[in-house]
Amino acid sequence: MSLFVRNLGVVGRAFRQNVRCMSALPAPNRNPSIPETKLFINNEWVPAVSGKTFETLNPTNGEVIAHVAEGDKADVDIAVEAAKAAFELGSEWRRGDATHRGILLNRLADLMERDRAYLASLETLDNGKPYKDAYFADLALSIKTYRYFAGWAGKRHGQTIPIDGDYFAYTRHEPVGVCGQIIPWNFPLAMQAWKLAPALAMGNTVVMKTAEQTPLSANHVAQLTKEAGFPPGVVNIITGYGPTAGAAIAGHDHIDKVAFTGSTEVGQLIHSMASGNVKNVSLELGGKSPNVVFADCDFDYAVEMSHFALFFNQGQCCCAGSRLYVEEAIYDKFVEASVARAQKRKLGDPFDTDTEQGPQVSLEQLEKITELCQSGKDEGATLATGGAQHGDKGYYFQPTIFSDVKDDMRIVNEEIFGPVMQIAKFKNIDEVITRANKNHYGLAASVFTKDLEKAFKTGHELRAGTVYVNCYDVLDPAAPFGGYKMSGQGRDLGEFGLEQYTERKTVIINTPGKNS
Ligand code: ADP
Repeated sequence: MSLFVRNLGVVGRAFRQNVRCMSALPAPNRNPSIPETKLFINNEWVPAVSGKTFETLNPTNGEVIAHVAEGDKADVDIAVEAAKAAFELGSEWRRGDATHRGILLNRLADLMERDRAYLASLETLDNGKPYKDAYFADLALSIKTYRYFAGWAGKRHGQTIPIDGDYFAYTRHEPVGVCGQIIPWNFPLAMQAWKLAPALAMGNTVVMKTAEQTPLSANHVAQLTKEAGFPPGVVNIITGYGPTAGAAIAGHDHIDKVAFTGSTEVGQLIHSMASGNVKNVSLELGGKSPNVVFADCDFDYAVEMSHFALFFNQGQCCCAGSRLYVEEAIYDKFVEASVARAQKRKLGDPFDTDTEQGPQVSLEQLEKITELCQSGKDEGATLATGGAQHGDKGYYFQPTIFSDVKDDMRIVNEEIFGPVMQIAKFKNIDEVITRANKNHYGLAASVFTKDLEKAFKTGHELRAGTVYVNCYDVLDPAAPFGGYKMSGQGRDLGEFGLEQYTERKTVIINTPGKNS
């Protein structure tokens, strides 16, 4: 266990804290009051123009938690006007010092810290993830992300450039403008933080659409941005559906940039909708990340980490280590140990502290996972454990493992986004690198080995935005995250993430006699 917890990064530190001091976990609020169910525009809560609402459901039982305003194009138009006005030169936001933006972001982080148990409870209620994960992982990462980008607010320096002639040239990093941001449901608070924090640090204004499955926690953060002191119009949050509100953002002529995290299919749509006014586009899309386990690995550790890489967050991670390749010599033993571990996985009420796995987020996801498992069976993979819904209430799915999988099976190529592991066998390093790179995704990859040469070779030759060596899901606000190939373009987090939210302006001043 000690090696396991030592190598997990932010998410892992959650578990370390978890293991060592569960007493640090405050009691959840299983029945939180939910005052923020409208649209957040210009620092006010307003109903949708249409007056429509939609239901957000508790995935443990399918019951309605709240009715939330259903924003669409008319509401996006109003929010964009607010964001545009807040971005006007001379506005309170544009006149503010860069360092002040950092102060506001730090205040927001403080308020999230104050409301951490409430936010984690909302996340668990709406998404279904275990409360201890929401508290120790999602909230930790989100708060840390606001603080990280707060630190950048006054530090984005331009350069002076010695161009030829009597000129003084320098660059400025200016905000892009009104940023449209569309986020998914698997890590609602963290995805909000990854997008909002760098945009605000650099002085942009934002119209964000949250996922229709999980609108609640992000709405509370909207309220906290007001409490922190962000001026009206800087942060606008629209709840609603993708093809209406989301599409209105992606295609809006007065939005200067669109940032999206979600499926590759929707990312492709957004990319083309954004072309109308040639928006700056950043996309973090799907994945089918190869996890390569060599026979010389630390066996027990690799089994545990591979389990974590796939099953964490109910398998609903875009970077999940979902294509597991295990070297022939340890294949049978590895499958056996992985099955034993999966069968020990504790499913249950996500508010209980010993629950490892909650329900999937929605019935739609449960059905998609069920269909893909059926395809695995039909195509001849061996179902080693699981493969069906767990219980008859809510959207729980059994921890599932397929062995004897072949590279052309659907379960090996398509993103399942659920607790379904498939384990393939390989013979040598060149073969596994070729096979691992065959997929059109390239978000993450990992390798487990004690051999440094193998680690470097595999790590450098795998085409993925992040490669983990002897670890997994180490996510830190300072380290960029994003995809190669059809897993996206641009990066979230780190300096590269910040760069997505600035325009570089070159200023050239005629300075006669400078060189004389
Ligand atoms: P998933 O399949 O995991 O739900 P999606 O890519 O469908 O992921 O959703 C991610 C986000 O994209 C959500 O906020 C969703 O509402 C939004 N979305 C879905 N369809 C569209 C669309 N056609 N245009 C813009 N946004 C969309």
